Amino acid sequence: MTDRQFPHHRSLTITESSNPNAASMYCKADPVEHSDSFIPSDITEHDLPYIESFVRQAYSSWLWHIPRHVVQELGTPALYSYDGILLSEGSWNQQEERGFDSERLVQASIKSGRTEMCLYEDQAYVSVPICSHQSELVFAVLVYEAKEDWTRSEALAIEGWALQLQQGFYREYEQLFIDDLNRARCHAEFEAKRRDTVCDMIQTIHHHIDVDAVLAQIMLGVKKLLPTATAEVYVTQELRIDNPRVKVLMFQPWEDTIVKQAFITGSVCSDERDDGCEIALALKGKQGAYGVLKLLFEQDVPEPSELQFVQLIVEAAGAAFENAKLHEQANAVIQELSFINDLTTRINQTLHLKEIFDDATQELSRVFQAEYCILLQYHEELARYELVSQNVREDHDSIQETICFYKHLPIVKEPFIISDAMEQSYGQIDFFEVLNLRSVIAAPLIAGGVIKGIVIVGDSEPRFFTYDNFKLLQKLAQHMGLAIANATLHAQVKHLADKDQLTGLYARHYLNQQIDEQQRSTRCGSLIVIDIDFFKLINDTYGHLMGDQILSQVSRVISSSIREGDIAARWGGEEIAIYFPNLHASNAYKIAERIRKRIEKETEPSITVSSGIAQWGQHDEHISVESLFNRADMALYQAKQMGRNTIHIHAEAE
Ligand code: GH3
Ligand code: MG
Ligand code: MG
Repeated sequence: MTDRQFPHHRSLTITESSNPNAASMYCKADPVEHSDSFIPSDITEHDLPYIESFVRQAYSSWLWHIPRHVVQELGTPALYSYDGILLSEGSWNQQEERGFDSERLVQASIKSGRTEMCLYEDQAYVSVPICSHQSELVFAVLVYEAKEDWTRSEALAIEGWALQLQQGFYREYEQLFIDDLNRARCHAEFEAKRRDTVCDMIQTIHHHIDVDAVLAQIMLGVKKLLPTATAEVYVTQELRIDNPRVKVLMFQPWEDTIVKQAFITGSVCSDERDDGCEIALALKGKQGAYGVLKLLFEQDVPEPSELQFVQLIVEAAGAAFENAKLHEQANAVIQELSFINDLTTRINQTLHLKEIFDDATQELSRVFQAEYCILLQYHEELARYELVSQNVREDHDSIQETICFYKHLPIVKEPFIISDAMEQSYGQIDFFEVLNLRSVIAAPLIAGGVIKGIVIVGDSEPRFFTYDNFKLLQKLAQHMGLAIANATLHAQVKHLADKDQLTGLYARHYLNQQIDEQQRSTRCGSLIVIDIDFFKLINDTYGHLMGDQILSQVSRVISSSIREGDIAARWGGEEIAIYFPNLHASNAYKIAERIRKRIEKETEPSITVSSGIAQWGQHDEHISVESLFNRADMALYQAKQMGRNTIHIHAEAE
């Protein structure tokens, strides 16, 4: 409050918005309305203790303007306050030798509100009260020392001058209101401008989901609103901001305490220092805080209203950070789902393990863009990992060699991340070092609860992978495990379907299919159909169980008489067919003969078999599988006709 302001200056009080968050703050400010309440009211008795300076000012100015001769003609003036205290210094009544006690005369005028007069020695004294306009309240008294012989008209003149003094006072008094109105107008304009600035900034901030742009707006906002402040922004690591002006919020004990405090409590924290004052405001959204704005004031401490504006910007920035983060998270989730979808779609297109591994390798190298992507399958019997797929084809042998060398590569049961293999030691292996991998993420491939292998993605750059990469690999590895489980189950089911339960030989449909395929890739082949002689009699004599055992014995002899690549299958009840790719009937005959002899010798009770042989070759390349069987069957019939325990080759093959 300046010395020219009244404490009871009710009409000029400008009420600040007590709630800075009020909706009006977001709107452009309206021009200030000058209502009736700004028109100055008359003074009251409450104002009297505060008007002295105006009275003095009015008196000086009155004295300055009053013509000198008038003063000389009328006498010498002196001015008293509303409570009778002399205000005009250097007046006649301070001269002690005069001896006139003006107090009583002044008090009489204050009391009566009228002009009073008295004579003392050879002087006359006239006291004129100066009253307020409306309530006749005496707020000053003008006293004149005049000549003894002054007249009534001279008294009227003095009253006139007193009226002039009163008007002078009111001019001063109104000037105060004019000054205050001017101040209020300037303040309102300044506030409106500031609100517009804040409003524009908040709108701009809300339009951004780019964290960097939001940060730039905060800096700009602080500079505009608090030009003397130095601003620093601290953000949490998760925002990953690449801005040199922004510091990462650390929670170390030695770190800035008010910054930490503001972040944790979400409130405005301040700290008075010898060289100024620090204020920290949390940048928070609905879900939590994302950072802190720290303001350093070296001289002027900001006004609460200024801070409220900064707080509005900070609140908008917090919300914008949250939006940016949610946006980033949503994008990351979408991308992650897309990766998972791509991988699963691709690896589920096949039920062949090798293809699954190769497809997965390609997808993983595409997703992580890393130098190495290696899939190792755990080989139970060898008790070690085998390289099944990798994205650097030419390195296959060296990787396999490395794996063989590091036989003790432990079975990895848990996923792991190595940010820099040079700094960390994973177990005792320097497997990654040999491959020149400094960054590694790896996850086991688990199918049906069993560890089937491991997926390793690596790069020669340290800290190549983010934690999100690591989490994504874990998810992808789970899906790969599922695909492996599917393929394994499928292989098992297929294996069961392709095999005959009793004999352990292949089933007839499998043989058909194989011959059909072989015919496309080879130039000839032979088929032997073997039939147990008098098997009905065996069954009848020893029972069906024994019959089954004989069938198994015969199958074992056959399985151990043929080479890998030859296919033996149970053709019918007690008939077994063997297909020999790239073999002529004459050679097949030799094998059939060897089998015939062995069966006779090795079965218990001893039984014999008869065989029919057919072949396909250069002349009848287009013979169907069925025709080949028919021919072999016809040859078998011939063998039976020939007395059994014998072999016959179909005429076409002879
Ligand atoms: P042949 O010398 O003319 O071949 O006389 P065979 O008795 O072997 O021929 P036949 O076709 O009259 O009889 C085949 C018998 O094989 C009939 C059936 O009981 C028996 N058999 C077929 N499949 C099985 C099987 O899985 N287990 C057992 N124990 N017997 C079977
Ligand atoms: Mg038969
Ligand atoms: Mg038979």
